[in-house]
Amino acid sequence: MADRPLDFNILIVGGGPAGMAAASAAAGAGTVGIVDDNPNLGGQIWRGQSFAVEQKNAAAAMYRRVQQAGVTHLPRLRVLDAPRPGILLAESEAGSYELRYRKLVLATGARERFLPFPGWTLRNVMGAGGLQAMVKSGLPIPGKRVVVAGSGPLLLAVAAYLYEQGAQVVSICEQSPFARLAKFSFGLLGDPRRLAQGVGYRMQLRRTPYRAGWWPIAARGTRYIESVVLSDGHRTQEVPCDYLACGFHLVPNIELPALLGCELLHGFVRVDEQQQTSVSGIYCAGEPTGIGGLEQAILEGEIAGLVCSGRTEALRPLLQKKKKFGKFADRLARAFALRPELRGLANAETILCRCEDVSFGDVRKHSSWRAAKLHTRCGMGPCQGRICGAATEFLFGWNADSVRPPIFPMRFGTMVGRGCTQENKLQER
Ligand SMILES: Cc1cc2nc3c(=O)[nH]c(=O)nc-3n(C[C@H](O)[C@H](O)[C@H](O)COP(=O)(O)OP(=O)(O)OC[C@H]3O[C@@H](n4cnc5c(N)ncnc54)[C@H](O)[C@@H]3O)c2cc1C
Repeated sequence: MADRPLDFNILIVGGGPAGMAAASAAAGAGTVGIVDDNPNLGGQIWRGQSFAVEQKNAAAAMYRRVQQAGVTHLPRLRVLDAPRPGILLAESEAGSYELRYRKLVLATGARERFLPFPGWTLRNVMGAGGLQAMVKSGLPIPGKRVVVAGSGPLLLAVAAYLYEQGAQVVSICEQSPFARLAKFSFGLLGDPRRLAQGVGYRMQLRRTPYRAGWWPIAARGTRYIESVVLSDGHRTQEVPCDYLACGFHLVPNIELPALLGCELLHGFVRVDEQQQTSVSGIYCAGEPTGIGGLEQAILEGEIAGLVCSGRTEALRPLLQKKKKFGKFADRLARAFALRPELRGLANAETILCRCEDVSFGDVRKHSSWRAAKLHTRCGMGPCQGRICGAATEFLFGWNADSVRPPIFPMRFGTMVGRGCTQENKLQER
């Protein structure tokens, strides 16, 4: 039962860099709240980061700004539904809450895309960011042999982090071909900070083979992974390892914006230059509007926070900067576009939906995401299709045609107490 209403002038969903930037920029405009399902602020990239006073990094500086702004942080609270305009329903271990808002900033971030291949459900085959998060939470990695594979700039960041933590990173495989990566790197010449970051990672990992145009085709082992088979489409190589950290770039978390009726454009939330979505009073910032990295997320958060609080006089330099970032997100998407060969990795027996144990062969028999869900229960387990749905989008070109509440599993008591909204048709332009 949602017996704890909380009322905010501006409410922000997502405590990553975009949400934190929005919160600090919105400060002073009445009550500002930031809700996140993690115990601490920081989102994916700053997870586990120390925000101690003596820390001089960007994360700690942002954290202090949020604190000084008097923002109410609601940790360990997951937003599940939007039962009525101006109200969100959230749940924590302690119970359920009604969060009321006049303006809303959605900064829900992104997740990794996983693709099925034989052996991908073996133990110690993990998402690249997933393994990084587990190491940040205390998983011992020193001396472990790790292959990092898949696609996207996250692979290098994760490999560098794992190496720093004492892992033996035996190989990094990026599915994108060398020519595309070279073009992307060349484009970074006008962006010294990002270039320096990429070069820094490569220097750190200079003893680790980096293969462009290679990808994993199978993980082998009995219960735990023992080796991974890599291929470039012509040759194969089996590499012994203790962990495979594997993700195929990122997919935006657009379920809550879609439930609230925000229009989508090519799978992302459509916003105007001031981060306003198609729904009045609802703004969106960070990865749901385009996968553009940390700086873009912060910038969009700042813009959304300023606009919500009515301080539009400070916007002009931010809007100019934003125009440049838009191009970076497009370049990232082109550089790390997935190759068609990845559609053929799974065989009929390979599990596609891990929650409901549904095989690739069973899902392939159907002609749409809805038909596959109805007939096989794929996408109907605890992750609500966040993993297999994103995979089928790439594998079969399917799209979810609606989003249904609750967007995460909800306790029965919460559901009975509140009732849920109807499904919302995805509004793709
Ligand atoms: C797994 C992973 C690891 C990454 N690691 C790195 C890295 O090491 N280096 C790097 O440069 N980039 C990394 N990135 C990319 C990085 O996250 C982005 O560049 C950028 O920082 C995103 O910021 P954001 O605020 O938009 O999203 P996020 O940082 O993803 O923050 C969104 C937050 O919203 C919360 N949230 C979402 N939905 C709800 C809800 N319904 N209720 C409550 N809370 C919710 C999420 O739990 C999360 O804390 C990683 C991305 C992922 C997915």
